[in-house]
Amino acid sequence: MAFELPVLSYDYNALEPHIDAKTMEIHHSKHHAGYTNNLNNAVKDTGLENKSIEEILKNISKYSVAVRNNGGGFYNHKLFWESMSPKGGGEPIGDLLGAINRDFGSFEKFKEIFNKAAATRFGSGWAWLVNQDGKLTVSSTPNQDNPLMDIADVKGTPILGLDVWEHAYYLKYQNRRPEYINAFWNVIDWGQVAKRFV
Ligand code: MN
Repeated sequence: MAFELPVLSYDYNALEPHIDAKTMEIHHSKHHAGYTNNLNNAVKDTGLENKSIEEILKNISKYSVAVRNNGGGFYNHKLFWESMSPKGGGEPIGDLLGAINRDFGSFEKFKEIFNKAAATRFGSGWAWLVNQDGKLTVSSTPNQDNPLMDIADVKGTPILGLDVWEHAYYLKYQNRRPEYINAFWNVIDWGQVAKRFV
């Protein structure tokens, strides 16, 4: 198998009450596992098995819809799990905070822009904090697309992502996506985001 479902560094219930255990369990063990299996099936005997997921995504316009959807799903969820921690929340520090202040005006202003991108993404998709050669910007993508893809409207390296598919919040928040978005800020692991920024 070319790609493996990553093991979480925390328990399914560790992000309670912000993200509930049942959602985490289904999201990781069913949805993310599904993207991973389907990606492995889609790359089988294509020569893509030996490429990194980043390299595949950067050239995604050359590959099948199945590779685009499941490769995105595989990568995006890995980044999502790694962006959260039971000890998360608060605000970034150091160079990352400096870049946020420089490019958005303030941390509060950044939050507002990110929340709006997450709340207004129609249907299923993601909101992103994107590093464009040292400059930060916010974007959103439909489905399992992401900023690494050559077909993305806003290209760059995602350093923080929020899944706004209904499967990410519906059990706990039903139609109240903005409540889920607000809760996300309590579990963001800014240390990990800063590592990705460097
Ligand atoms: Mn998801």
